[in-house]
Amino acid sequence: MQPALANRNAAADLLELAFENRFVDALPADPSRENVPRQVTDACYTPVVPTPVRSARLLAWSAALGAQLGIEPPSPAAVELLGGNRVLEGMRPYAARYGGHQFGSWAGQLGDGRAITLAEVIDLRGQRQELQLKGAGLTPYSRSADGRAVLRSSLREFLCSEAMHALGVPTTRALSLVGTGEAVIRDMFYDGRPQAEPGAVVCRVAPSFLRFGNFQIHAAYREEDTLRRLVDFAMRAHFAGIDDVAAWYQEVCRRTALLMVDWMRLGFVHGVMNTDNMSLLGLTIDYGPYGWLEGYDPMWTPNTTDAAGRRYCYGNQPGIAQWNLARFAEALLPLVPREPLEAGLALYAELYQDASAGAFATKLGLSALEGADDEALLAELFEVMGAVETDFTLFFRTLAMVPLDVDDAAARVAPLRPAFYDESVLEGEHRMRLAAWLRRYCARLQQDAADPATRAERMNAVNPKYVPRNYLAQQAIDALAAGDASVLERLMRVLAHPYDAQPGHDDLAARRPEWARNRAGCSALSCSS
Ligand code: AMP
Ligand code: MG
Repeated sequence: MQPALANRNAAADLLELAFENRFVDALPADPSRENVPRQVTDACYTPVVPTPVRSARLLAWSAALGAQLGIEPPSPAAVELLGGNRVLEGMRPYAARYGGHQFGSWAGQLGDGRAITLAEVIDLRGQRQELQLKGAGLTPYSRSADGRAVLRSSLREFLCSEAMHALGVPTTRALSLVGTGEAVIRDMFYDGRPQAEPGAVVCRVAPSFLRFGNFQIHAAYREEDTLRRLVDFAMRAHFAGIDDVAAWYQEVCRRTALLMVDWMRLGFVHGVMNTDNMSLLGLTIDYGPYGWLEGYDPMWTPNTTDAAGRRYCYGNQPGIAQWNLARFAEALLPLVPREPLEAGLALYAELYQDASAGAFATKLGLSALEGADDEALLAELFEVMGAVETDFTLFFRTLAMVPLDVDDAAARVAPLRPAFYDESVLEGEHRMRLAAWLRRYCARLQQDAADPATRAERMNAVNPKYVPRNYLAQQAIDALAAGDASVLERLMRVLAHPYDAQPGHDDLAARRPEWARNRAGCSALSCSS
């Protein structure tokens, strides 16, 4: 180990950092180096280097993450690294082996089919972080695909990773977006009309990209020794203070519950909650056809591939996470008795209920939900929101502006107007229903101790004004594809402070415009990436 790692305190060029490779050092490697799609047995990873690209060009950089990692905006040589055109001394790049349940069925070996971890660095807080290139070329886990990623999906991952972090949600991060100068062929609409699209590579950053599926694969193929080694490694490397597998599993349940609370309180829909897309660390991982609730609808899914079954729709997410935790628990049965695993699942359900009630209370400006009346108040709110197309983000954000001291329906309803996709509903029957709910709500707030200004401030700190709506991401994609990075840069700047009012940027907080309702990428998307 190099001593330079211990006390970094200043930013440096990426090329000057010291690197570690604990995952590679500690765990069994695939003995074969043959870089063709194949089944790998009894190994946690395959050493593999990125496939060079024609011309690596920096398209976007996360200044916030760069500062945390102590990495300066990249030099031309660093851009080559971030595009996959070079590997540095001290790096031992690898593709991880994992499996997973996809849409409810065991899918066998999946693995990093286009992601390659380069190495670990230590950030300025002393936390180890893996640097991983997504879209870096073929690996033994690429199956029938090409190992590459298109610009549109890469920009979406880059943008949303950083936005999620700013929203206060655990997530993998994104440091850079690099254009490859190469075309990638994708059938974006799955209609048999493949098109050439610009390719890109995102440098993702996280303490670990381990997924439930990394453990499942060893259980599925009865590789018990390797399973044990991976569990030991994960515990030691990423769960300091926990040295018992049952307690470790319960900690994963706890983190997953809190992650689901965050997704649900913000209206984030992941879109592909397969067990290979569930982070061991409780991070949001693998941004694909994700979306943000616009009109509140528990059945809404951004993923057109899931439109028929709606397995991964907004309202199903907490239950699906628990189902995924149960599959993860099954993978641990060779190592742990059943009871503590079942206790972990029960803990998940209990914690989710409590923390979700707390999060929605805070969204409403209450210190807690107290008793059946408060629960009914929240349940009725969801009914009212679901009755006509009501923007989830805008409704909660504008709720803080509802006046408490005037007993006047019109005055109470007025601040909420921007949340309605068809404002004319506020002239009809819905207005009565909304006003009735607001009357109860205001009466309840008046029993709460906080003064109105403090309450509004607290509500604004949990109800974001800005979220990366799909149509905003699509506008950034269209501009960048035409050579204009300014749309993305502005969006990144504003989304770095999603709870602040930021006058002058109200257009980025508006409800989805009608032209975007059915346009590809602006509301729902396919998995093509
Ligand atoms: P996802 O649903 O995007 O999380 O991906 C599921 C699996 O497919 C993972 O094993 C990915 O590595 C793999 N995969 C997705 N796209 C590609 C691609 N273009 N090339 C190789 N593997 C891919
Ligand atoms: Mg994935």
